Amino acid sequence: MDAATMTRPDLKALITDVADAIVSHADELTTLDQAIGDGDHGLNMKRGFEAVKADSAAFAEKPLPEALKAIGTKLVMTVGGASGPLFGTLFMTLGKEIAAQPGRADFTVALAKAIDAVAARGKSQPGQKTMLDVLYPVQAAVAAGKSPLEIADLADAAAEATKPLKAIRGRASFLGDRSIGHMDAGARSTALIVRAIAETLEADA
Ligand code: ADP
Ligand code: MG
Repeated sequence: MDAATMTRPDLKALITDVADAIVSHADELTTLDQAIGDGDHGLNMKRGFEAVKADSAAFAEKPLPEALKAIGTKLVMTVGGASGPLFGTLFMTLGKEIAAQPGRADFTVALAKAIDAVAARGKSQPGQKTMLDVLYPVQAAVAAGKSPLEIADLADAAAEATKPLKAIRGRASFLGDRSIGHMDAGARSTALIVRAIAETLEADA
């Protein structure tokens, strides 16, 4: 994820790969959400990312900031649940904050602002067994200059590390201590998105 790669990633490939990663793991996401939520996360994410994929050519024609904002808006309109507005906020804010041709420094700052916007929207913070438990470590790894694949591995480990946590936000929090021992569904979907982006950037580089 060097400056050259960040300048103009193949946006259509990125969108397609992220969408395919979510769609091909929808059943797993559903199973995770069934254990400590209401079981809709897989379908919510599949619906949203299929809609994003359907419009990928149009998104890819836009400047990066506009494309990210449009993807975020589409996710808000199609994912639903608690996660739709949160992933929507992530991409919309990233679009609002990122430079048209970002280097790593621009991306690092914009990503931090986007994740803070998710936390503000969710009235949540890391440690509460949510997608934030993957997003914040990923941002720290980007800031530290880790490679895309290192970041993807770290995202998987961060999702895994939500297992022993007790949920404090989202539906899983209704279960209290019974939420302990299960991976958070939104943390897993975040790790899937991060790995798809990382592998596509790596292949591009
Ligand atoms: P719902 O909880 O409405 O059924 P989903 O199942 O699609 O929506 O999404 C659940 C995921 O959303 C959780 O696994 C968690 O990662 C994330 N989430 C829920 N509430 C919050 C919150 N307040 N802050 C951050 N993430 C949250
Ligand atoms: Mg759910």
